[in-house]
Amino acid sequence: MASKITAPRGTQDILPPISRDWLDLEFRIHVLAARFGYSEIRTPMFESTELFVRGVGETTDIVEKEMYTFEDKGERSMTLRPEWTAPVMRAGLEHNLFAQGPQRLYYVGPIFRYERPQKGRYRQAHQFGVECTGYRGPEADFEVISLAWALVRGYDLSDAQLRLNTIGDEECRPRYREALIAHFRPHLAELSPDSQRRLERNPLRVLDSKDERDIALVRTAPTFESVLCDACRQHFDALRANLDAAEIPYVVDPSIVRGLDYYTRTVFEITSSVLGAQSTVCGGGRYDGLVRSLGGPDVPAVGFALGLERFLMMLDAMHPQRERPRNGVQAIALGAQARATLVPLVDVLRRTIAQPVFMDYEDRKLLAHLKIADRNNARFALILGSDELTAGELVLRDLETRSDRRVTLGRVADVAGALAEMAP
Ligand code: ATP
Ligand code: MG
Repeated sequence: MASKITAPRGTQDILPPISRDWLDLEFRIHVLAARFGYSEIRTPMFESTELFVRGVGETTDIVEKEMYTFEDKGERSMTLRPEWTAPVMRAGLEHNLFAQGPQRLYYVGPIFRYERPQKGRYRQAHQFGVECTGYRGPEADFEVISLAWALVRGYDLSDAQLRLNTIGDEECRPRYREALIAHFRPHLAELSPDSQRRLERNPLRVLDSKDERDIALVRTAPTFESVLCDACRQHFDALRANLDAAEIPYVVDPSIVRGLDYYTRTVFEITSSVLGAQSTVCGGGRYDGLVRSLGGPDVPAVGFALGLERFLMMLDAMHPQRERPRNGVQAIALGAQARATLVPLVDVLRRTIAQPVFMDYEDRKLLAHLKIADRNNARFALILGSDELTAGELVLRDLETRSDRRVTLGRVADVAGALAEMAP
């Protein structure tokens, strides 16, 4: 016998009823993004490898070790999208969006990273993210953070924490780099090999390290506060004032630097203690230099990416017992003749009412049909047995309140009306 084929390591099949949670989350995302004035963008699932090397940065985990890179038959190096920001900016440049003024774009879809699979870390994961381009001021930073926070708030995830930091701009960042290098260099040999390698090229990445060997030295490192230039300080203060006024709670966390090279000024994360080691559900910030580094004009940008898997894990942990409200109608025919009468009615109902209409076509007892109704989480049963058939009626049973009502057989409008009255 041939061996069983399974899904690739680090990927998941999303089956019912869990797929409902996904659909609900995605639905909320689309509604929320629209309310903030964002429009959806969809980009290819693979791009030139070069885009990510330039747009994400050579010293990042993503480019150093996580990309799914392959050569296509035309001998071009291609990479499955490991993140969306570089592709979105590439598309914006290619289609001249940035020349038309500020853009508000969002995306929802898969990313691919060759990681060691574990809880909250997969090889195919899904992200919701936004990119707000064309605004240099802190209002845009506030807007995207408020959007991300609105999603958290909508699900009542009280464990979520917003962490905020600033990592300066081209004026004060060089000073910070020097201060960091001066701090770590005397202890070079004590650092993890990754951090040793990164120290000279990208010392901020050392702050981001989760390696035991680095953590103690990171704790005593100088904070950005000490070198921040006036313009960056004002930007940060204005953002904080907006967050305070909107009653969005946050903590300033100097260790938040984000893994990607292109951030400037604002960086933030949303974390949750229920997630264990992979505690970051959302990461974002401002990246005013990215479009230029892709060969485009000077376009300031701010955005975030939120992991849907981790978001749903957070939801499961915080609201494990959450109810999925009963919805829909289980049409139940007892016997071949009843079935022949009910099938056309079900078809009309499916095209008339907004609720789902389920029907099972096997010969079963009423009890077995009602079990199926429970499995479908249906709110109503619409029953046609031989007695009802003779009387020219249907029984409409509310499976939540256990109350029955009789409606005239053949009058679809009556069924629809009764449903609307019973569950307004
Ligand atoms: P981490 O520190 O966990 O590796 P990251 O800095 O690589 O995260 P980003 O590139 O900022 O993450 O992606 C934003 C979000 O996307 C993360 O906060 C997380 O929720 C989600 N995410 C990233 N990589 C994965 C993955 N391999 N599996 C599941 N979710 C992921
Ligand atoms: Mg990562």
